[in-house]
Amino acid sequence: MISENINQIQSEIPDHVTLVAVSKYQSIEDTMAVLDAGIHDLGESRVQDFLKKYEVIGDRSRWHFIGHLQKNKVKYLIGKTFLIHSVDSIELVNVIEKESKKQGIVTDVLLQLNLAREDSKSGILAENLNAVLEVIPSCQFVRVKGLMAMGPLTQNNEKIREIFMELKRIYDRIKEESWGEVIKMNYLSMGMTDDYTIAIEEGSNMIRVGRKIFS
Ligand SMILES: *Cc1c(COP(=O)(O)O)cnc(C)c1O
Repeated sequence: MISENINQIQSEIPDHVTLVAVSKYQSIEDTMAVLDAGIHDLGESRVQDFLKKYEVIGDRSRWHFIGHLQKNKVKYLIGKTFLIHSVDSIELVNVIEKESKKQGIVTDVLLQLNLAREDSKSGILAENLNAVLEVIPSCQFVRVKGLMAMGPLTQNNEKIREIFMELKRIYDRIKEESWGEVIKMNYLSMGMTDDYTIAIEEGSNMIRVGRKIFS
């Protein structure tokens, strides 16, 4: 049961950690059940699917876009998301800036890092992060609110932990640097069904959970 799964997860995680229910691939009905269980943060990974749900649910939830985002689809998200977690290039920042400006809306984003350096994952490589950060202060309509990463594809908990520790170190470093109002480290989005416990131990304050809620 969705509500029981949510209650169980909520009872395990500290208050300062936001649970984002990843409703990708789930029906409208099951997605609504999440709202009924008291969670108002939903994560979607495909623009088309998101728009269908947004039509029905609208502002009754905060919407987190967590999937790889194509530049030509950015315009459909502007004004509808609480956070876009998956910003992974300067080009994408520039398109979000342009489309947000058109609509006169400021868009809050997280920068996604690919710390495990897996080809199958999108995300900024650590050595390229500063170049992305450096374009943000010249943006008027994009604000960076934190970082996102996925754990590595492995059963080895220590390897997973190392990646989360590395993300936390980068998060703390940026927090100490003076980037001004446009770059704030408010959200550290890490942890999914299989690894959210480790992620929280390593400093996550936003977990994205799908399977454990919907199975
Ligand atoms: C699917 C997905 C999740 C949720 O994963 P589960 O293993 O189902 O909890 C979290 N984050 C991203 C980026 C995803 O694509």
